[in-house]
Amino acid sequence: MDIMVDGPRITQIAGMLHEREIPYSIAIGDVGSVLSREQGIKYSKNNRKPNYCEMDWDNYHRLHVIYAFMENLSHEYPYLCSVAVIGKSAEGRDIKILKVSNGNEYNVGVWLDAAIHPREWISTAVVTYIADRLVRTFHEQPDCVTNKDWYILPVLNPDGYEYTHTHDRMWRKNRARYGECVGVDLNRNFSYGWGEKGEEGSSEDPGNIFYRGPKPFSEPETAALRRLITKSSTPFKVFLSFHSYGEVVIFPWGYTDEPCPDYVELLEGGTSIAKAIYETSGRTYKVGSTKDLMYFACGNSIDWSYAVAGIPYSYMVELRGKKHRFLLPQNEIESTAKEVMNGVFRLLDFVDGKSKSCQSCDCSK
Ligand SMILES: [Zn+2]
Repeated sequence: MDIMVDGPRITQIAGMLHEREIPYSIAIGDVGSVLSREQGIKYSKNNRKPNYCEMDWDNYHRLHVIYAFMENLSHEYPYLCSVAVIGKSAEGRDIKILKVSNGNEYNVGVWLDAAIHPREWISTAVVTYIADRLVRTFHEQPDCVTNKDWYILPVLNPDGYEYTHTHDRMWRKNRARYGECVGVDLNRNFSYGWGEKGEEGSSEDPGNIFYRGPKPFSEPETAALRRLITKSSTPFKVFLSFHSYGEVVIFPWGYTDEPCPDYVELLEGGTSIAKAIYETSGRTYKVGSTKDLMYFACGNSIDWSYAVAGIPYSYMVELRGKKHRFLLPQNEIESTAKEVMNGVFRLLDFVDGKSKSCQSCDCSK
């Protein structure tokens, strides 16, 4: 468990841990200095953060910059891209998705989402990078990449995302009001396994950061995702949800420690992602089920996409950040995005290779 302590209280907290014989170590000595490095600026009264309007992958960006980037890409490549509003957030912001497709009738769908947890900024940077590279190099890409309908949702939780820029860098939930409390953990608000495992898998307390909401899909953000996927005429084959941090590729289940029916298949697919990452940057991402590598996460998006939406390759990718936790310095954005893009493309090669070999053999798939 990570805790963040207000500077003046640090000796008191250390004393308490020591008294109770709870082992601890200091992950980040001064969060303020890491924050400045992440955002590339030195904070002082007269030195306010410049208002970046241009999209790039040397900085983390506000929502309006991300949305302008999506619109610009679709104006530049109208034959490949379109932008749609799939719903409104709790506070009424648009939830925008970018679709990239060559329009072929038999394409299968690939889903990428980011910032379901808004403090995980690197996730948005990574999926926008993939979108940009995919579109600008589309005709150089192999069939396994171009024969897909790509649905790319860079900010699934726009209210929370803005809030992490304006108020609280560590905000995890959406901004829906529940009595005195604010926010649902959207990645505990999906229906499959919702509310299982008691307080270990999610929380029924609106004040808790793992609050699952009053019922599955109670939140407009998760409901919008479900609507798009279940109403789409494209059969989805891949569902990837990006998070940070941990450098792991995880797959169902999160609501139980039983293995899912396609455990080996998902392990192989996840390993193809991890292999490509290793070949790109030498980083070692672990692969396994949610419960094996993390903890019970009940009502999460990939248990739903796999079990209910029937998307066979459903993964959560926890991106870099072992050292800096959520505050990955901006000079690591591009290298993280490159390794992960190669991982995603490699997964598609694996997925297509599987369906080809299965056409020529007698197996039941
Ligand atoms: Zn997350």
